[in-house]
Amino acid sequence: MKLWVTPKGDRWLCDDCQKDFEKAINEEGWRVAFDEKYNAMLRCSACKQPDVEMFD
Ligand SMILES: [Zn+2]
Repeated sequence: MKLWVTPKGDRWLCDDCQKDFEKAINEEGWRVAFDEKYNAMLRCSACKQPDVEMFD
């Protein structure tokens, strides 16, 4: 989960959702403020899921 600085404020995005926001990241120049690994307390602002490893 990364904390992104965006024109509309900071937001957490998981790696999956980061792909969906790649266009905005590039066009609006988002930057990573913080990279927090495996913190189950955090929720992605897009999919509302915690950052947990999926094993299958
Ligand atoms: Zn997400």
